[in-house]
Amino acid sequence: MARVSNFNAGPSALPLAALERAQSELLDLNGSGMSVLEHSHRGKVYEAVHNEAVSLVRELLAVPENYDVLFLQGGASQQFAVVPMNLLHSGKSADYIITGAWAKKAQGEAKNVGTIRVAATTEQDGKFPRMPRQEELQLDANAAYVHITSNETIGGTQWHTFPNVGNVPLIADMSSDIMWRPTDVSKFGLIYAGAQKNLGPSGVTLVVIRKDLVESARKDIPKIFQYRTQAAENSLYNTPSTFGIYLLRNVLAVMKGKGGLAAMEAQNRKKAGLIYNAIDSRPDLYRCPVEKDSRSTMNVVFNLTTPELEAEFVTGAQKAGMVGLKGHRSVGGIRASIYNACEMKWVENLIEFMAQFKK
Ligand code: PMP
Repeated sequence: MARVSNFNAGPSALPLAALERAQSELLDLNGSGMSVLEHSHRGKVYEAVHNEAVSLVRELLAVPENYDVLFLQGGASQQFAVVPMNLLHSGKSADYIITGAWAKKAQGEAKNVGTIRVAATTEQDGKFPRMPRQEELQLDANAAYVHITSNETIGGTQWHTFPNVGNVPLIADMSSDIMWRPTDVSKFGLIYAGAQKNLGPSGVTLVVIRKDLVESARKDIPKIFQYRTQAAENSLYNTPSTFGIYLLRNVLAVMKGKGGLAAMEAQNRKKAGLIYNAIDSRPDLYRCPVEKDSRSTMNVVFNLTTPELEAEFVTGAQKAGMVGLKGHRSVGGIRASIYNACEMKWVENLIEFMAQFKK
């Protein structure tokens, strides 16, 4: 079996050990005579998996007691709507910090729910080369919340220091960098992330939300969209994505076994540093459009001198066993997504290919 060097942006590579565990348990989970896919979500066998997944999130992210951990469906895109539906109270507005395509999508959906303000944007000639500086933020002290996108998956930018928003709840879409490093959850009112990059398969959305926000959230929306509905039922109000949560459990168990988020951070910084160095050391051929202090450790984007050379690069890399390097269709170029499960040897393959391609 030849596993490729997988640079997909999401769904993306999963740790081999998490997949092998699923393979070995698929036909018979813990001696129950059936797979997790066939278990009732109300039964003891599934319940143990579910609770272990919740515990692993709590442990790895050091989630404080006064936060709920939810496994929802509908992707991060559904949260773009559900966050304002719950937290954008009438008479209030919410601040959005616009840093790229995903922040814009979140803002666009929130506009369908209520009044929003743009507290900052880093758009320059249609591009987003960096994250904003604290002094650029025009925050409303009465806002219902401030929304940021911690890592822009398409633009390749990342907040390295989170903004100070005073007493207003900070809400982050962490879909593409959740658990890339230890994070102080207490700085946030709510964190959400589609699982399909760092946490597991698509179909599960992690929400970590402060309990007082659950309690004070709006009640004039359908029950299924109220955070309190799933919070009161440990995300088992209706049938969750049982297999998705099972596989997320496997992925988090592997992360824990490797030393948790401090180990993830060390490895991620090393991988990203190697690729950015390879780009910067050959300015005649490669160029990263992102300013240095905003560069993402998860999605490394770069350009070659012409789109034709970029196409050749992607084809050549594919022949050498590397997939997923074509930039997002909206921006072109090259994108190497190097999430937690991306192996160091894949990055080494890419760097070697970048050097050879130059020749
Ligand atoms: N936010 C970010 C930062 C993303 O990268 C993505 C997906 N690539 C989304 C939101 C949308 O996620 P989903 O497809 O789970 O709705």
